[in-house]
Amino acid sequence: MAVNEAAYKGIVDALAPAGVTLVAVSKIKPAADIQALYDLGQRDFGENYVQEVMEKQAVLPADVRWHFIGHLQSNKVKYIAPFVHLIHGIDSEKLLAEVNKQAKKNNRVIDCLLQVHIAREETKFGLDATELDALLQKVVTEQAQWANIRICGLMGMASFSEDNEQVRSEFAFIHGLFKQHQPVTAPNCMLSTLSMGMSGDYKMAIEEGSTMVRIGSLLFGRRDYQQ
Ligand SMILES: *Cc1c(COP(=O)(O)O)cnc(C)c1O
Repeated sequence: MAVNEAAYKGIVDALAPAGVTLVAVSKIKPAADIQALYDLGQRDFGENYVQEVMEKQAVLPADVRWHFIGHLQSNKVKYIAPFVHLIHGIDSEKLLAEVNKQAKKNNRVIDCLLQVHIAREETKFGLDATELDALLQKVVTEQAQWANIRICGLMGMASFSEDNEQVRSEFAFIHGLFKQHQPVTAPNCMLSTLSMGMSGDYKMAIEEGSTMVRIGSLLFGRRDYQQ
């Protein structure tokens, strides 16, 4: 079976009372798997690759909410700007400026999360606490220039580690930043979403204040990148 229906129902039942949103991460998986979960009621899907999300968006129902959760290159923003629901991985002012520009061209406002670097791995992307502070200040003080984006929250990926206390402290760190910046509100900035937690660590992420989890392999099975 391509989609684990029992796991899906279990996760939905666990998240609903906590008010946590499930983003089903469907990267590398065929459109038929997305359709199967859609038929069970799922609407939020997460994708990492521009070409792939464009192809899927073209063939799947129009009310799917497409979350872009991968590392986004500025020169590819234009391809997803017409339809993307939420961009999770904003990690520079340059990228945010391009999203703002492409959103304007499409006559819309695009919701964004700022990605915070919390993991120990150098390879993971994201803003540090100082950069986050600077970018939020900029968006709020220069509102007229940033009218086509809305900062809705923060996103983080914990270290890929067996050390639970390390992972927990990383989630706690980003939650602290989230709380710290929540008083900053403007028409284009209101932090209400905290996107953290994947198949292996989502329960801990929720305990540490996550409001949106991104789950792939528990729902769709292992990913085979060879296919
Ligand atoms: C692939 C991916 C996920 C889902 O990972 P699983 O371990 O399969 O749940 C979540 N977030 C991001 C950013 C990803 O790239």
